[in-house]
Amino acid sequence: MADKRDYYEVLGLKKGASEDDIKKAYRKAAKANHPDLHPGDKEAEARFKEANEAYAVLSDPEKKARYDQFGFAGVDPNYGAGSGGFTGDFGDLGDIFGDIFGGGFGGFGGFGGQARQQTRTGPRRGESLRVRLAISFEEAAFGCKKDINITRVDQCPDCKGTGCAPGTTPEVCPDCKGTGTVRTQQRTPFGVFQSTGPCPKCGGSGRIIHSPCPRCRGNGTVRAQRKLNISIPAGIDDGETVSLRGQGNAGANGGPAGDLLVVVQVRPSPTFRRDGSNIYITADLSFVQAALGAEIQVPTLDGQVSLNIPEGTQTGSVFRLRGKGMPNVRTGIKGDQFVTVNLQTPKNLSRRQKELLQEFADIAGEKTGRKKRKF
Ligand SMILES: [Zn+2]
Ligand SMILES: [Zn+2]
Repeated sequence: MADKRDYYEVLGLKKGASEDDIKKAYRKAAKANHPDLHPGDKEAEARFKEANEAYAVLSDPEKKARYDQFGFAGVDPNYGAGSGGFTGDFGDLGDIFGDIFGGGFGGFGGFGGQARQQTRTGPRRGESLRVRLAISFEEAAFGCKKDINITRVDQCPDCKGTGCAPGTTPEVCPDCKGTGTVRTQQRTPFGVFQSTGPCPKCGGSGRIIHSPCPRCRGNGTVRAQRKLNISIPAGIDDGETVSLRGQGNAGANGGPAGDLLVVVQVRPSPTFRRDGSNIYITADLSFVQAALGAEIQVPTLDGQVSLNIPEGTQTGSVFRLRGKGMPNVRTGIKGDQFVTVNLQTPKNLSRRQKELLQEFADIAGEKTGRKKRKF
C-alpha cells in the first residue's frame, strides 16, 4: 500500500478535478491501457488496474470525500485485493466500457446492470428492463419494426427529476452539506471513535425538499406506459437480445437510465428449419422423377425457385442452394438452404399404371407380389 500512487496522479488530474474531468481522464487511461488492446503487456495491465482502482474511488462521491480527507486510509484498505482488483463495483463503469467498445450485442453487456453498493447521494444508473417479443420466421429473416408497450420508471416530467414542486428548489442539507453522510464521535472507555453514517436530517439524500412535486410526491420519477417502435435486425435468432441503450428505468440523482433488453422469440416456420445461418427443408419427389431426373419447384425465403434433380437421385439426397439461407445478424452474409429429397412410393395406381410397372419389373427380372397372385 505504501508505494501506491496518488489516485489523482494516476489519472493525471489535480485534486479538486470535476466529476466530468475524472470520467474523461479515466476513459482516456482505460482506453490507452486496456488489456484487450495490449495482450500480454504486463505494464499496461498494471496501469489499467491502477486506473480502475483510482476511478472506482474518485467516481464515488462518498469514497472520494473520504479519500480527499484521509487518503488511502479513508477508503477500504482491502479494495483491490483478492480477485484481481476490478471484478465487482462496475456500476457506472459499464457505461464507459460501452462507450469504448461500442456496446451492441453481447460483449460487455453483463456489466451494466450489476448491483453495487450505492451511495445515497451519487448518481445512480436506472435498472435495465427485459421484455419478450415474439416474431415470425420471415420477420427474423428480413428484419422488422415492431411496436412494444412497456411500463417503466421515467423522470418526472413536471419536476424534471428534482422532486421539487415547480418553481421551488431543494435546499442543500445544512447538517451534511449535501454529502448525505455525517461523522459522529463516540466516547468510549477505549478512546474516541469516529464513524460515518447516513445523515439523519435528510435521510442520506443530501437535500431537503420543502414542497415536494405533487405529481411524483418528491420521488423525481413516475411510472409511465411507453410505446416504443423497435427495429429487429435481419437474421436474428431465437433467444437473442436486442439492447436499447437508455430505454430502461430512469436513473436517480442525474444517473443514466438503464437499458431495455428485448429478448426475441422466433416462432417456428411450418416450412423451414434453421441452424445458424443455414436453413433446411424436405421436398417430396416421385420415384419416376428421381429415376429420370426432373426440375422441381421448392420454397425459399425469396419465393419459389426451381431445382434440378439429376437422374438416378436416391431418397435422402441433399441439394444445396447457395445464398438462400438466413443473413448473419452482424455481417448480413447469407447462409445456404439445404433441400433433402424424400421419395414417394406411388399409391392408388390405375390398372394401366400397374401394368406398366409390372412390365418394368419383368424387364429388370424383379419379382413382385403382384405376379405371385396372378392366375
Ligand atoms: Zn415530480
Ligand atoms: Zn443531510
